[in-house]
Amino acid sequence: MPGKDILVVEDEADIAAILAHNLEREGFSASVAADGEQALKAVARRIPDLILLDLMLPRMDGLEVCRRLKRDPAHAAIPVIMVTAKGDDADVVVGLELGADDYIVKPFSVKVVCARVRAILRRREEPPAGEGKDIRMRDLVIAPGRHEVMVKGKPVEMTASELRILHLLASRPGMVLTRQQIIDCVRGTDYAVTDRAVDVQIVGIRRKLGALADRLETVRGVGYRFKERQ
Ligand code: CA
Repeated sequence: MPGKDILVVEDEADIAAILAHNLEREGFSASVAADGEQALKAVARRIPDLILLDLMLPRMDGLEVCRRLKRDPAHAAIPVIMVTAKGDDADVVVGLELGADDYIVKPFSVKVVCARVRAILRRREEPPAGEGKDIRMRDLVIAPGRHEVMVKGKPVEMTASELRILHLLASRPGMVLTRQQIIDCVRGTDYAVTDRAVDVQIVGIRRKLGALADRLETVRGVGYRFKERQ
C-alpha cells in the first residue's frame, strides 16, 4: 500500500521516530504529531489514511482526540489504531466503543505495528461484510439468511442471538469487539442482553463450535475476537 499517509500521534520523540522510520521503510508516508492538539490540527490540514494514536498524551489525551475525530463527520471514517500502555484495558474498551479500529500494547514490535496498519487499510478497501451476508471459511459456514451454521460440513443448531454474535465476530476476523459492541448488535433479538449474558452466549457458541471453539478468543478485560486463520 505505497503512498498511504499515516499520522503517528506520539509525544515520546524516540518512539515516534522509530514508528515513522519503519512505516516509511514499508512504503508508507508518515508524519508525526507530538500531542493531541497537534494531531487535530494535522488532520484538519490533511486527512490521513490512518492514525496511530498513543493514548497517553500531554494536555489532550488520545481518547479525547478519538472522541473529537469520531464526532466530526468529515473525520469519523479515518481508521484509528490506539497505542496503549499495558493494563490500560478500560481505556481500550472506551476507545473501541468510540470507534477506534484496533489497539496495540506497548512495548510493541514494529513488525506487528506495520502488519496491523496494513490489515486495517486492507479491510477498509474490501467491501464491508454486511449484515446477513454469508461467511464461508474452509471449516465454517455462517448463513444468517437461512439461519444455518456448518462446522466442518455438519449443520449446528444455534439460537438467533448466538448466530448473530458469531456472524458479527467472524465478519471482522482479528478485530476485538467489546461486550457493549456485541450487545448493541444483538439487541432486539431473542435475548435480554447484559455483559454477563454476552459471556454466557459465547460459552454456548463455543460449545456448539466444537473443534473450532478456540477460534473465539477471549481478550481479557476487553472483549472477544474471532481469530484470523493461521
Ligand atoms: Ca505517550
